[in-house]
Amino acid sequence: MSCIHDNLNAIQHTIQAAINDAHRPADAVKLIAVTKTVPPQLIQQAYEWGQRRFGENRVQEIVAKASLLPADIEWHMIGHLQSNKVKTAVKTSRIIHSADSASLLRKINECAAVMKLRQEVLLQVNITGESTKFGVSLSCLEELLLVALGMPNINCCGLMTIPPFIATDDELRHWYRKLKDYRDRLEKKHRILLPELSMGMSGDYGIAIREGATCVRIGTAIFGERAT
Ligand SMILES: *Cc1c(COP(=O)(O)O)cnc(C)c1O
Repeated sequence: MSCIHDNLNAIQHTIQAAINDAHRPADAVKLIAVTKTVPPQLIQQAYEWGQRRFGENRVQEIVAKASLLPADIEWHMIGHLQSNKVKTAVKTSRIIHSADSASLLRKINECAAVMKLRQEVLLQVNITGESTKFGVSLSCLEELLLVALGMPNINCCGLMTIPPFIATDDELRHWYRKLKDYRDRLEKKHRILLPELSMGMSGDYGIAIREGATCVRIGTAIFGERAT
């Protein structure tokens, strides 16, 4: 058995343990295997294990890899999206996790309309307010959500966040809980459902799941350290 299979088995166990701790349903969490810089042969190994959801932070990587890998793979765009890449992102991505401005939403809506589909998007939230981060600030989130809700070819199905690179478990718990609280409030206030919370990476997905994550985006723990 390959190392990637071992890693995926171990992660699956950790995910189930966190789900049990939090008294959530067994299928409450989707694992997105993050494959940036990972060559197709290794992605294929994860596929053979049974993994079907993969995440990339560049649209060109999705296009290049999708052409070499099985068609039933579900690609997730998790990185910052430039407006000139939106058309390709809509063509290839099951969910765009990184919508963070009204202009980007407009462009996604336009492209989705041309392709006669409803694009699933998550609003990326800059939960800490760090100026170096992409994502909408918490103070502008509601306004952006209303923009998204007004677009016929966009299905806004939740929120995504990337926590600070260096944080203690308590701090991570705090940020993840905060995102979920905001989500809960927005759902109540606008009588809508925002079921997806995309949060949790290799180092902290157990914490994120206990705080309500529905999508965890895991790279290093599956494929090893990335050569940067
Ligand atoms: C790279 C990346 C991940 C995965 O990070 P790991 O620490 O390798 O698990 C998750 N989310 C986003 C947005 C990323 O760019």
